[in-house]
Amino acid sequence: MQTLRKILEQAEANAVAIGHFNISDLVTLKAVFEAARDLNVPVVVGASEGERQFLGVRQVSELVKSLREDYDFPIFLNADHTHSLPSAIEAAKAGFDWIVFDVSTLPFEQNVRQTKAAVETLKALRPDILVEGEIGDIGSGSEIHDAAPDLQKGLTTPGEAKQFVEETGVDTLAPAVGNMHGMLKSMVAGNTKKRLDIERISAIKAEARIFMTLHGASGTDDDDLREAIAAGMTVVHINTEVRLAWRRGFDAALAKQPDEIVPYKLLPQVVDSVKQVVAARLALFSTGRRARPAVQ
Ligand SMILES: [Zn+2]
Repeated sequence: MQTLRKILEQAEANAVAIGHFNISDLVTLKAVFEAARDLNVPVVVGASEGERQFLGVRQVSELVKSLREDYDFPIFLNADHTHSLPSAIEAAKAGFDWIVFDVSTLPFEQNVRQTKAAVETLKALRPDILVEGEIGDIGSGSEIHDAAPDLQKGLTTPGEAKQFVEETGVDTLAPAVGNMHGMLKSMVAGNTKKRLDIERISAIKAEARIFMTLHGASGTDDDDLREAIAAGMTVVHINTEVRLAWRRGFDAALAKQPDEIVPYKLLPQVVDSVKQVVAARLALFSTGRRARPAVQ
């Protein structure tokens, strides 16, 4: 089995991106895994602090590990948006492959200091683990929002990205480049799309020269996603679209079988609904637009 780092290197070299999808139950995990297997592309599932509190930290780790081993398939697990060192250590000890250490709401210098300490502690514990840091403001909550927050002031600059990467020793960087967690009601209705600052992505990539993760990509314009990947995004996070598909699939299943009470007769429709969304996103991410130089 290839390591996650190797898979990111290959994605970088091929100018494609790895899809990252958040899960909070077995239904979403099944859907992501089946979609990735159908397309035969590596995939990362993420569980934020709230999601892993529901799933169980060690339990979700064992579920993903069992799929990876039983099917000999490159599926990896990320501890998404981990806001404290004890929580990051718990995930590392449970076997997570990757930790997003997110103290991005702190002032820059404190963010640097705490992220550097987290990288050192986590690597001492598990030398193979990947650690991601985040700078800038990409909003919070993969939910449906009434109005867009003003994220203009929190956009990442190439200079601070370079400094952050050099001083912290992170493996991957999550910048703010017009992306935003959650979706607006108009995006859920299909009337508007998120747009990305492609030039900023290119400039940050050129300065920081690191694997980059696009958070909050649900509801983003397809062409912007292709351009963002070509400009240097190595991983793309989708959560709200997964949750929306889960809810729509569940509503449809209940409407179709109002008297059904057997979970395994209702939930396959939910799996299918999520799987369609994941498959469409994975197909887009795994189609490179143009070659770009690899990291380093
Ligand atoms: Zn995120």
